[in-house]
Amino acid sequence: MSTAQALTGSTAANNIHKWMRAWHQGSAPDAIDLDLVRQMLPDTPYGQGVREIKAPMAHGLASCEGMLVRNPQDDSEWGIFFNGKSPAERQRFTIAHELGHFVLHRGQRPSFSCDKESVYSGADRMRDIEREADDFASNLLIPGDLLRDAISERRIDLHILSALAKRFQVSFESLCIRFIKFTPQRAILIYWDNGFAKYEWRSSSAIKTRARIRRTDDPQEPLPETLSADPDIAQEWNGIDMPADVWCPEESSDITLTEFKHTYGARDRVLSLLLLESAAPRSWDLSWQDEESFDCYDKFISNDQLPER
Ligand SMILES: [Zn+2]
Repeated sequence: MSTAQALTGSTAANNIHKWMRAWHQGSAPDAIDLDLVRQMLPDTPYGQGVREIKAPMAHGLASCEGMLVRNPQDDSEWGIFFNGKSPAERQRFTIAHELGHFVLHRGQRPSFSCDKESVYSGADRMRDIEREADDFASNLLIPGDLLRDAISERRIDLHILSALAKRFQVSFESLCIRFIKFTPQRAILIYWDNGFAKYEWRSSSAIKTRARIRRTDDPQEPLPETLSADPDIAQEWNGIDMPADVWCPEESSDITLTEFKHTYGARDRVLSLLLLESAAPRSWDLSWQDEESFDCYDKFISNDQLPER
């Protein structure tokens, strides 16, 4: 197995940040210059055997969000295509996603064609290489150290997350997804499309403490008494406190949850952010500190078996 195959998206993105910051000599912009990354990559260890990545070009195919393609006449030349009709922040994410395929996967095939589902959602059901390319893009566009400095030791609300999205030139949605995957807080993010949950993400501490929303019929619908279910409230960027068990039936009643809501212009798409007070892992779950053993525990539960202690 080559070094490139063992790379993860976050490790590769972090290394590229180091190189970019060295190149900028301490004055690197917060919003990473993707064109510079593209031009630089062939001269780095991640671009072995490649002479050039051509400047990204817009395409007009509605079904395709982005492509990475090797020149059939010249193995040392690659090209990137993006959906020219998408918003600018989304185009930026797509180009970063295709650079992720270049760094992580180009040894596996000569071309990659990525639809809307595979770029950008970070959903767990996606194929591994799409998730890896998304992780790469997310880590490249929103550097972990800058994000940590921006969110540490302060109350988070949607005003703060929106300002960060502008600072890094990413969409509000992709900033929120990155926040969920990054924050030490217990947090759940739900994307509703036409009244039904399309995606759901939980922070690692939410997973470890088994914070879960109450299930309705499939597909999931907004729960009664929540902002998500209230058609009269389109935006709640400051957050409203409520007992956590309104959303999460397994939470004790003295735990508080803050619900935030953002409705997109079209009104049929809503993003809900839930921040839960911290809670100790369930006392009988001793495996929470170790992600791997936690996964085993989850498997036990899904088989209706109790873990051996
Ligand atoms: Zn892809």
